Amino acid sequence: MKRIGLIGGMSWESSIEYERIINEEVRTRLGGTHSADLIIRSFDFAVIEHLQASGDWRRAGELLADAARDLEHCGAEMLVLCTNTMHRLAADITDAVSVPLLHIADATAADIHRCGVRTVGLLGTKYTMEAEFYAGRLASQHGLDVRIPNESARNEVHRIIYDELVQGVIDDDSRQIFIDIANELIDGGVEGIIAGCTEIELLLGSDDLNVPYFPTTRLHATAAVDLALASQP
Ligand code: GLU
Repeated sequence: MKRIGLIGGMSWESSIEYERIINEEVRTRLGGTHSADLIIRSFDFAVIEHLQASGDWRRAGELLADAARDLEHCGAEMLVLCTNTMHRLAADITDAVSVPLLHIADATAADIHRCGVRTVGLLGTKYTMEAEFYAGRLASQHGLDVRIPNESARNEVHRIIYDELVQGVIDDDSRQIFIDIANELIDGGVEGIIAGCTEIELLLGSDDLNVPYFPTTRLHATAAVDLALASQP
């Protein structure tokens, strides 16, 4: 089993889900007392959030690269960045280390294809919904048609992520807002919804929607176990 390096804390509300899901998957697959071989680097999210909001992606990239180097130095054989948004800086990580980074959009796209879906709605931070690094990768590398909510809905989704979900607040009214926004995308023709922020699945579940749902934390964590156990007999 490969040692997995988790770059987390963005926020820890979802990073602990990665740790839990990865350990549960390893136990399910290997049985007995098996658990995952993990190293976790957890950032103070206030530092990262400030860099995002001030547009200092260069400094954020340096921090992620340092974290990746530290994890590799401590024996990590593969890296998992536990946030969709910060995959904007995936290249800063891959340039810094020689171990593979399992990209969250690739793990998500694999499941979207398994479900036979081609047109998907993307919910996430404004950074994720509005920039090219995520939807562009899903389109160019995976052939998906990605749709995003209108501007006021994007603002709402972003606000709920930063003012509530990363702070551990789970609110029924906010869940309804997410459902309404997802349904608007579905009425517009999308066949599935990506929870493209690792905290969204803490609020919104597959039972809340009547189309396939792609929860990126679960999909990414499960794909990490696939890779970690790939050489397992
Ligand atoms: N965890 C979130 C994501 O998946 C948002 C927090 C962050 O900006 O990293 O995008």
